[in-house]
Amino acid sequence: MSNSENKNLQTKRVRTRFAPSPTGYMHIGNLRTALFTYIIAKKYGGDFILRIEDTDRERYIEGATDVIYNTLRQTGLIWDEGPDIGGPVGPYVQSERMGLFKQYALELVEKGEAYYCFCSKERLEELRAVQEASGMATMYDRHCRNLSKEEIEKNLADGVPYVIRQKIPTEGEVTFHDELYGDITVDCATLDDQILIKADGMPTYNFANVVDDHLMGITHVVRGNEYLSSAPKYNLLYKAFGWDVPMYIHVEHIMKDKQHKLSKRDGDASFEDLMQKGYLTEAVMNYIALLGWAPKGENEIFTLPELIAEFDIHGLSKSPAIFDPLKLRAINGVYVRKLSPQKFEEYAMPYIKQAVTRTDVNLHEVAALLQPRTEVFTEIPAQIAFLDALPDYDIALYTHKKMKTNPENSLTALKEILPVLENLDEPWTQENLHSALFALIEKLGVKNGLILWPLRVAVSGMAFTPGGGIELCALLGKQDSLARIRYGIEKLSAGA
Ligand code: GLU
Repeated sequence: MSNSENKNLQTKRVRTRFAPSPTGYMHIGNLRTALFTYIIAKKYGGDFILRIEDTDRERYIEGATDVIYNTLRQTGLIWDEGPDIGGPVGPYVQSERMGLFKQYALELVEKGEAYYCFCSKERLEELRAVQEASGMATMYDRHCRNLSKEEIEKNLADGVPYVIRQKIPTEGEVTFHDELYGDITVDCATLDDQILIKADGMPTYNFANVVDDHLMGITHVVRGNEYLSSAPKYNLLYKAFGWDVPMYIHVEHIMKDKQHKLSKRDGDASFEDLMQKGYLTEAVMNYIALLGWAPKGENEIFTLPELIAEFDIHGLSKSPAIFDPLKLRAINGVYVRKLSPQKFEEYAMPYIKQAVTRTDVNLHEVAALLQPRTEVFTEIPAQIAFLDALPDYDIALYTHKKMKTNPENSLTALKEILPVLENLDEPWTQENLHSALFALIEKLGVKNGLILWPLRVAVSGMAFTPGGGIELCALLGKQDSLARIRYGIEKLSAGA
């Protein structure tokens, strides 16, 4: 922890905020920001604030705020202050705060840190065109920066439309501190005199964001690093007001691969996408914590309280994180195995019922077989479709190197198995099947695989099944198991 952070944490109650814009879905990059923001607040016994940044009315989407509420609730990122529960520094919806900002801009005008700009739209467009044509950076040319008091008063009295702009120093440098990137210094000449208050009297996003963070007492700002380039201007605003600068933590993008950001089109980018794919909430949260943050030890499996205990800002990475669906699957598998059998069954049953329509199979037993072998619930139907109908399989499946089986010795095996099972008079249970088949194995003096692999293939038509031949026979019942074994014998005898 740097000295600046130490100082901040010692002197102030930690207050962090998640400030999403309601887009209608929760990108996992945003959810990760929310997670880190929440963790920092809770780690230091502070407050986690939810502020909805909805001022981009053109992009208004019905129900979009509910997506934010629901996702945060579902993931356990419970806010201490926010639009629905209020708090001491509300309102917490940016559009309800719109009247508040102009006075702050005027305060800056008073201090000589901002100024009225009466430039017409046409003038600005012309300026832009000229700058673009000559390959210059498109910036305001500070035309109104030095208007006399009289000119300003006259324009105001005449009702000339105006905006208020930030007065950026014309020379020198501005340095800001990011907890990850360290000190970043920018030449002031490269910064635009950005608009703070628009012609309609409303603040720009950049201005509202700074004022809101100050008024809400925010001590730590975690945000995507697309905001890194705006940070110098934010810093100058804090300085102009004489306000404390919060600690900035800009986090890297989540990428699909080295070149491309993970976008909505990829089908993995939003929390809803991942839920639809059957991932568990806790697993998703665990995985996204690892996108750009590295724990100190080897362990990567953390519940939310464990993350709070383990988290260290300096474990955050400065390089983009690549979204790895295989790793997410593996982590999900860890969480699936940790579920109680009842909970697993609750989640798995809709998928089991999708695949198994016959009524003579014990679905609880199917669930019990699936739990140790499931990474994602949505893969369940494909794993067990063979229970309803034996798929059309190739006899090449009988060849298994490790089991030392091939179509020939499998045919022999099935011919040995068939009468044993036909004559099994005791109840058709796993236990009895086990005894009968192991008695056969002993009698023949062969390795288990030589009998059990052909049996598994014959009754499932699959190379990967939840459970081996004995478990599958028990599920399928006597009649169906025997029919499938007979079919296997036929197939192998025919050589196809
Ligand atoms: N409303 C902004 C967004 O959703 C948040 C920016 C910030 O955290 O400062 O990207």
